[in-house]
Formats: sequence, structure tokens, C-alpha cells
Amino acid sequence: MNRTAGGARLRTGALVLLPALALAACGSHRVPSGQAPTAAPTSTPSGTPSDTGAGDLAIARSETREDSVYPDIGDPLVDALHYDLGLTWDPAKDRLTGREVLTFRATGDSATIPLDFNEQLAISELTVDGQPVEHTVAGTHLTVEHPIEADEQYELGLTYAGTPAPAPAPSTRSDFTQGVGWSVTGDHETWTLQEPYGAFTWYAVNDQPSDKALYDFTLTVPSPWSGVANGVLRRTTTRSGQTTNRWHLAEPAASYLVTVAFADYQHTDLKSASGVPIQVWAPAGGKALPGGTSTAPAAIDWLEKVLGPYPFDSFGVVVVDNDSGMETQTMVTLGDTDYSLSPAVMVHEAAHHWYGDTVTPADWSDVWMNEGMAMYLQGMWEAEQEGITIEDKMDQWAAFEVQLREAAGPPAAFDPAQFGDGNIYYGPALMWQELRERIGDDAFFRVLREWPAAQENGTADREEYWDWIEQETGEELSDFFDAWLLGKQTPARD
Ligand SMILES: [Zn+2]
Repeated sequence: MNRTAGGARLRTGALVLLPALALAACGSHRVPSGQAPTAAPTSTPSGTPSDTGAGDLAIARSETREDSVYPDIGDPLVDALHYDLGLTWDPAKDRLTGREVLTFRATGDSATIPLDFNEQLAISELTVDGQPVEHTVAGTHLTVEHPIEADEQYELGLTYAGTPAPAPAPSTRSDFTQGVGWSVTGDHETWTLQEPYGAFTWYAVNDQPSDKALYDFTLTVPSPWSGVANGVLRRTTTRSGQTTNRWHLAEPAASYLVTVAFADYQHTDLKSASGVPIQVWAPAGGKALPGGTSTAPAAIDWLEKVLGPYPFDSFGVVVVDNDSGMETQTMVTLGDTDYSLSPAVMVHEAAHHWYGDTVTPADWSDVWMNEGMAMYLQGMWEAEQEGITIEDKMDQWAAFEVQLREAAGPPAAFDPAQFGDGNIYYGPALMWQELRERIGDDAFFRVLREWPAAQENGTADREEYWDWIEQETGEELSDFFDAWLLGKQTPARD
């Protein structure tokens, strides 16, 4: 993510000393530059069965866990393999109608199935393996009264409808004031931003990042609007004034990286220099990307030179009416502000496709693994644009990093009520520069390229990452990582 909101909040105050903090939020981390229609059908089953066969689901098998920062969301008993989501949006009524089929593996024995869901949505039918089953929804918890056994696979069917609302965000960032999850704009368009959670506001889900799954989406809305989601657009059909888009995501994704947006979209087809197909989806008549749609392939071209081949089959950008930026899987979701639409944010969010999307933190205490590297790469890109050295850029950031760490805690032991603050961005970025100076460019960039490739479609925690880097470099780095990531004070820089 990138932080714009934090910036807005700080800009209103007399915090002239912290220009960077304003720039620091991840939805779109603002970085200091220089230095300073009509009714929809009542239900829309996805129609055709998913084309993801059972044999292909092995790639979505996960080692689930309870989150150490947000243990109330997600449950390690469920290993979601595939979500088939048929969603119809009625802008005239702000009403979402959903038909979901969730295929999952149980990781243990239990008398009930625990999932995350939104009590504002009414469930009209719930089945397990085709049989109707009782359930309760309390707060964000959906409890399905059906026993499960370890390593058995189940298919849960759900029909629901209502007006989804965002959930409160565990954050003080200004771009989080609307909450997390499904949002509806004043023009009845919809978008999602669900880090560290919030997918449960619009479908039943195991909403914790260690549990990756495959997705198919069937999105229906009155024409000429259309629905955008992750993956590849397989088919568009228009019937009785309704447009249906079918999207297929072939690489498993954590739920926080899943997105759906409905609006009057136009799209532009592009390609990276290496041939990655790219689609830019922008609302008709909306704000144009500064620099034009070519900033999308330009970001991929630059990142591929540093990090190696783009990790997915397709890349896309969807522009929505909010203040942030978000690295959704195979997509970048950009808010409709000058900063969120800037080339720097495009680079930051696209960098997350290597750091966050193909290799994902298994636990939210390790979100620094995403933001530190995305920020460092953004810093390299900015230094190039500004004609300064990376050392100069890091000096600029170091001038305010101390205050970010004091405000929200060490990067890898942050205050749970201040998710996404500047502390998880800038301190880890400074750390990567220190490592680069310690081990040299050759080893440093080899580590940058090989970690996401080695962890393709997986999840990892800090111990796995630290062990891997020590093995690759032959360096003993436990004191180094402890000081930079868990220290209350910023270590001395070389
Ligand atoms: Zn980010």
C-alpha cells in the first residue's frame, strides 16, 4: 500500500518538520520528493462451474496460522482453496447480491466451520456439499453448524444479499477513515481496500494472509458499467441491459489482495517490453494518469530490470474513487488523486507484486517485508528521476524516520491500533540500504531477485526470511535485523 491519507492529515497541522510523514502512508506512501441505472437480477450464480479443476487446487494449499497481531480475524482450521464468487451490483439500490462457492480443506477436526463474514449481509441459503446447514453470524464471525475432519475437502455454498459497509480499520491513517473492505461512492460505484483485513465485508472468507486461494469472479452490473477483479478477463457478455464480466485468477492470492470494483469503466490494452499483457481500467470521464497509461508498462519495465521477470501472467491498473493506492494481486488499485496516480506510486504498488503478492507475509507482524522493500525500490526509482544518489535519498528519509518509529513502534513490533503507519516503511527501507553497503551490490541484488522467485505463490515469516538471507550471503545478521526491525531506536547508519 501507499500512504496518502497520513499526508493529508499531517499537512493540515503545523508539522512542517515532518513532510515525509505526510508522505509515509502505504495505501500510497507519500514520499518527500526533493526533500523535502436499473435494477439487477435478484441473484446471479456464477452460471458456469469454475474451470479450476480439483487437481489444480494443490497450488492453493496453505499452512494456515492464527495471526499474532489480529487473532480475531481468520481461523487456521480452514485452508481455503478456491472461491467462486458470483456478484451482482445494483447501483440504484446500492445492493450487492452474492452467490459464493468456497472449496476448502479442513486442517483439523471441529464441530463447526469458522469463517469471517459481514452481519449486514443476509444469508438466504447455506449448504455444505449440497446439503442445507444451519449457521449463525455474530459480529464478524460466521459459524456453520457442520462437522469437519482434518485433511478432508468440503464445498460450502452461500447465497446472500444486502448493502455491504466497510469495517473499522485498526489504523490512524487518514486514508483509512472510511474503514476497510467494500466501499460505495456517492456515485454508487464500488471499490475495496482490505489491508490488513476486510474481505469479509463482501464474501465469506478466511481473512488472514497465510491462507492463499484461487478465485473466479462473475461480475454483473447494469450496462454500460462493468466489474473489474483480479486476474484475466475471460469473457464479457451483455444481456437484458446487464453486463457480465468473468475473471479468472490462476495464481493463489491472500484475501487482502483480492479486489472488485464496479463503475463505468473504459480500458486500454498495453504490453510491457517483455510482453506482459497490461490493462488499465479508468472510469469514463475520470482523471487521467499523469504521464498517461504508459506509466504502467514503464513501471514493470523498470522493476523487471531490478527484480527479474514479473511474477504473474498479467498486470493491470484499476482507478477508483478513494485516496489511497493498493497492490491487489495482478492489479494495482489506485485512488483518484494526483499522488495516488503518480508514476512513483505505480512503481511502489507494482513492486509489491514481487514483495507482498507472490511472496506474502504469513502474519501481519511481518508487513515490513512488503513495505520496506516497496519503499526502498520506490526510493531507488525516485533517486534516478531526481538525479541524486540512493545515499542522498536515504539521508532524506533518515531525517524523519526516527519520529515515525517513536510514534508507532518498531517496524516488526508495531502498535496494532496503528496499522500501516510510516514506521513499517522507512526504517526497513533504510535497513536494506545498510545491508547493501555491507554485502555489496552483486550479493544485494541477487538476494532481491531470488527471494520472490524462490517463494513463488507462497507465504513466509521473518525467521524463514532471515535464515534464507543469512544462507545466501554467508553473513550472521541476527543482531542487525533485531536492531533495525525490533529496536525502539533507529540504529546508527554507516
Ligand atoms: Zn506499500
